[in-house]
Amino acid sequence: MDKFTQKYVDSFMAELTAKNPGESEFHQAVKEVLESVAPYITSYPHLLDLKIMERMVEPERVIMFRVPWIDDRGEVQVNRGYRVQMNSTIGPYKGGIRFHSSVNLSIMKFLAFEQTFKNALTTLPMGGAKGGSDFSPRGKSDNEVMRFCQSFMTELQKHIGQDTDVPAGDIGVGGREIGFLFGQYKRLRDEFTGTLTGKGLAWGGSLLRPEATGYGACYFAQSMLATRGKSFEGQTVLVSGAGNVAQHAAQKAMRLGAKVVTISDSDGFVYDPDGFDEEKINFIKELKNVRRGRVKEYVNQYPNAQYFPGERPWKIKCDIAMPCATQNEINAENAKALIAGGCYCVVEGANMPSTPEAIEIFQKAKILYSPGKASNAGGVATSGLEMTQNSIRQHWTAQEVDEYLHRIMSDIHDACTKYGTEEDGYINYVKGANLAGFIKVAGAMVDQGIV
Ligand code: NDP
Repeated sequence: MDKFTQKYVDSFMAELTAKNPGESEFHQAVKEVLESVAPYITSYPHLLDLKIMERMVEPERVIMFRVPWIDDRGEVQVNRGYRVQMNSTIGPYKGGIRFHSSVNLSIMKFLAFEQTFKNALTTLPMGGAKGGSDFSPRGKSDNEVMRFCQSFMTELQKHIGQDTDVPAGDIGVGGREIGFLFGQYKRLRDEFTGTLTGKGLAWGGSLLRPEATGYGACYFAQSMLATRGKSFEGQTVLVSGAGNVAQHAAQKAMRLGAKVVTISDSDGFVYDPDGFDEEKINFIKELKNVRRGRVKEYVNQYPNAQYFPGERPWKIKCDIAMPCATQNEINAENAKALIAGGCYCVVEGANMPSTPEAIEIFQKAKILYSPGKASNAGGVATSGLEMTQNSIRQHWTAQEVDEYLHRIMSDIHDACTKYGTEEDGYINYVKGANLAGFIKVAGAMVDQGIV
């Protein structure tokens, strides 16, 4: 980076940090994008003059609201709800809703910012947003979750709609929560539209939407591996998380011939040296999605497996790592352990699971590394396909959706290669994804004037 560009990055970040104090995840996400796109911005001075980046980091709208509800003991509970509508330049706002005790404004803004670039990469017309609450469904009854969702939607419905903002699921928001949210939206607005995605199949959902993020990450990984003449066949894979993304990443990697040996939750991880098969994956799905249990229960069913409380899976030897739990779950120490254990490919299913220090270690070692905004875009892309099916009142077959998903992931890989290939041939997927997403959104912002 030349001196002028470095100065631009430094002063931009100083101003952003001062204006958004304490929002460390948001600062981290912006810095990563800015470092990729700053040389492009400084070589096209009109982008500087039009303050494109300054406008991109300022959400178009932030909605914060009280979510009161009554628990099963009759006590009043109060949570905080959010919707960050970051950028609607290329389409209606689109992005998930997260229910987790850690949710705060910084996390919402980082996710909405990332979503803007990810959605641009999908080739579909979707702007970027994110929402959620510091409510945790963990340990709550179905009735408590329903009452919370109804209260949350009572406010949120004022700000969303099929042509303005279309939320979906994320951590803590799966099929059950989308059902309760959609039911309340429909009741209050008296309309049946595709305003939420991730819906049940009987009421407007798309085949393959639950699988799409994990499957898409594996399709993206196939393209990455192919650049080195490799495939999933015979490779040992670590997966973190045990939720929607992890379950389907593990399932597809296994079906493509890999030996997937770990899953995790926030309490620890499970290592199964024999690898997962269809029966074991179905056990995990039932455990997490129906019984709402913890991963440690896996070893009761499969005693050959080991449970490591309070630890992450990254110390296990592997070829490929797929972090599918949450942000900053791979730090520098974990990154070093992965490389020491033989890992040559890291494919992010989660959003921003690697810290900046970890990314630097992967890239210096020249291993294959893709950021979530590229490799997990299959989820939102299939949400986009759900919106299309709702609009034309049709229901596509799983094969049709899967073909679209394959094509979209392959197009995203092409975009990363186009914008991210360095002089020595190394594909910098971070640079490629950020630049491809930025060029599309920035161009559209220039076209639409100062708004
Ligand atoms: P789920 O709620 O279905 O699963 C999340 C999993 O991650 C759970 O196993 C959870 O364990 C674990 N987890 C959550 N927080 C932590 C933490 N702080 N430390 C360790 N483990 C944690 O969520 P999803 O699978 O939907 O989402 C996972 C990731 O993928 C997120 O980063 C999300 O933003 C991203 N993503 C999801 C998409 C989707 O379509 N669902 C689309 C694109 C990205 P526990 O049960 O202990 O909380």
